[in-house]
Amino acid sequence: MKICRTVQELTDSINTVKENKQSIGLVPTMGALHNGHKSLFDRARKENDVLVCSVFVNPIQFNNQDDFKKYPRDEKKDIAFLEASGCDIAFVPDAKEVYKEEPTEHYDFGQLEQVMEGKQRPGHFNGVATIVNRLFMWTKADRGYFGEKDFQQIAIIKDLVRQKNIPIKIVACPIFRDEDGLATSSRNQRLSAKAREIAPKIHQILTKSFQMKDDLSISQIKSFVESEFKRRKEFELEYFMIVDDTTLQPILMKKEGQGVVGCVAVWLDGVRLIDIQRYY
Ligand code: AMP
Repeated sequence: MKICRTVQELTDSINTVKENKQSIGLVPTMGALHNGHKSLFDRARKENDVLVCSVFVNPIQFNNQDDFKKYPRDEKKDIAFLEASGCDIAFVPDAKEVYKEEPTEHYDFGQLEQVMEGKQRPGHFNGVATIVNRLFMWTKADRGYFGEKDFQQIAIIKDLVRQKNIPIKIVACPIFRDEDGLATSSRNQRLSAKAREIAPKIHQILTKSFQMKDDLSISQIKSFVESEFKRRKEFELEYFMIVDDTTLQPILMKKEGQGVVGCVAVWLDGVRLIDIQRYY
């Protein structure tokens, strides 16, 4: 595995891959790697000749400095994880390298960014789009792999690709879960043992709401999920929204053929966790 710390090193490696006419799959990450990331690496490796992974905790996508400071980092472990996952090129830059050119980009994602994560975390998606656009440019990837746990992020990135006409295919990958149903996440490391035991409730509540969907209206599903979180004092619900899977706008009644997804952000033990449930 080639480890690149500068854009120049990465460009040199990518040029060789391109000269050999090999296809490139890119998986951008913020490190603290886990099996959720690995599910993306496996898919990208299967569908491309060369797997490129980036590890970079992107400061400009954090609206909360405390969250940025507390974000788990373990570069040595991540590099070993990438090696064991069959990564060919690891891009592990620091912020000075990534933002040698001042990040002055300003993106407009319209209504896609006015709900959920975009609403709760001002500037978050501008930071995401800035880094992802640079990674697409530098890696010249044929395909980019993203997890559906960050459901809104995928919609934003697809829109970025459309707006800028970037020649890349965005591949949305299903959520990988621990055996007890908790979506794996770098932030799970920060949960106390007791909170880690409670955390699978998030998926359990969503699954229960899915099982009840044929007997309930959309607003009844929403009320059910909200009340399930509110009656457990360990959780502090930030939002639960049931949205159209393409426009991300909240819906009250499902239309024929419409894709419908419930998205949740909830605090547990001072850690912000997100998850989704597809209904239709
Ligand atoms: P992160 O390092 O948290 O920024 O995540 C990097 C990529 O991995 C993003 O596209 C995430 O959506 C994806 N990802 C994180 N956790 C999971 C998971 N449990 N299942 C599938 N994809 C995931």
